[in-house]
Amino acid sequence: MTEYDYDLFVIGAGSGGVRAARIAATHGAKVAIAEEYRVGGTCVIRGCVPKKLFVYASHFSDDFEDAKGFGWTVGETKFDWKTLVANKDKEIDRLNGIYIRNLKNAGVEIIQSRAILKDAHTVHLVAEGRNVTARRILIAVGAKPNVDENLEGVEHTITSNEAFHLEELPRRIVIAGGGYIAVEFAGIFNGLGVETTLLYRGEQILRGFDEDLRTLLHEEMDKKGIRIITGQVFTKVEKTSSGLKATLTSGDTLEADAVMFAIGRDPNTKGLGLEAAGVKLGKKGEVIVDEYSRTNVESIYAVGDVTDRANLTPVAIREGHAFADTVYGGKDVKVDHSIIPTAIFSQPEMGTVGLTEAQAREKYDEVDIYKTAFRALKNTLSGSQERTFMKLVVDAKSDKVLGVHIMGPASGELIQAVGIAVTMGATKAQFDMTIAVHPTAAEELVTLKEKWQAPIIKAAD
Ligand code: NDP
Repeated sequence: MTEYDYDLFVIGAGSGGVRAARIAATHGAKVAIAEEYRVGGTCVIRGCVPKKLFVYASHFSDDFEDAKGFGWTVGETKFDWKTLVANKDKEIDRLNGIYIRNLKNAGVEIIQSRAILKDAHTVHLVAEGRNVTARRILIAVGAKPNVDENLEGVEHTITSNEAFHLEELPRRIVIAGGGYIAVEFAGIFNGLGVETTLLYRGEQILRGFDEDLRTLLHEEMDKKGIRIITGQVFTKVEKTSSGLKATLTSGDTLEADAVMFAIGRDPNTKGLGLEAAGVKLGKKGEVIVDEYSRTNVESIYAVGDVTDRANLTPVAIREGHAFADTVYGGKDVKVDHSIIPTAIFSQPEMGTVGLTEAQAREKYDEVDIYKTAFRALKNTLSGSQERTFMKLVVDAKSDKVLGVHIMGPASGELIQAVGIAVTMGATKAQFDMTIAVHPTAAEELVTLKEKWQAPIIKAAD
């Protein structure tokens, strides 16, 4: 029988890789994990966690405004970008330390190096110039931000990676993209006082989300002073004496101090040696896996964004855990990707779980919609015109709630809890049976009585 150096070699110490390594080691496997950057991966080091800290920071401008209506006089306020970045870095260092400690405590060997596959059982450690072997290899290298490589002046642009470490807070920024990262960073920079423009190639931001959420968020972002330009992309970015100038397809130009791409992320598989090992990749370079995260090569598995299934941290963690339990824990665990609650930390925040109205109408014969938009109680005194929105998508036949879509403060917290009910297959009647918590915005979810009827548009006489 072949002797390997390790039972499991994990490439990439992000959310999925770390979880898989820890659980496999806990089940008794001899495990090593290689990381070329920092243990913790995108989410902890330059993604979800620092992003959320920036979102908190950016909210204070609204909070100071809101305070006036409640009788507070807020003195002169001043924001210091360098303090925020330094404090954020301190917290990220702390979390990075916890991740390293947890791996070590589980008995996982951490190797600080880029790792490249040589064959189905061999990994080359670039920093150490040596090869190691493993019975199984798990690819968990995540994804990396895309930029338009062919754009003239692309070297002047940044991505979310750099946005976390800018030397100075820009006075003006243009962000290209209309997905999670673009809308979240537009809210962050706008809240911090940066003149913010969002440039989206399509007609409406957040493709794939419920239409009502897309329209309402666009309107709320407009109200907050974010300029949203649709149907345009950059044709050129150039340096000027006062910053950068971006030219758009329309020929219009935008002056800015920073130009950021947030146009999606591609699996980080380039130069990883997957071809050498015979691993099948998809069109975007994603590793193709089955429901057990197995690739076509018997000894190689993959979890997280590198597989381009549902590119979210909790999903990667679940996939990593399921892999370790199945392979090393004697439990047969598949991950159900069909219902995934998710939050967008836009301003206002949004939460969504289950089917959008459009998806439901495609799949079910008759769909009932319940929805409401209102100014939350706090805003009656704060004077803020921001609206809160709640929507239930229900299968008329079975009464099952197929989707919930919300916009408003703490939507992320709320959708986590509502996600339980939707995952359990709760019916609208069960939502209605639940006693309301008063006064909250969330009580609307259990008191929505009227089915929404599309307004009847009468033909002109
Ligand atoms: P998304 O896939 O969410 O959005 C990409 C956006 O860029 C879309 O609006 C897309 O337009 C646009 N786009 C794509 N290619 C081009 C191009 N060549 N030129 C112009 N525009 C383009 O990616 P993000 O970068 O926003 O986020 C990456 C991933 O990170 C997401 O998959 C998400 O799962 C994850 N994430 C999750 C967060 C959360 O859970 N809160 C937060 C941040 C990230 P179109 O719609 O026309 O395709």
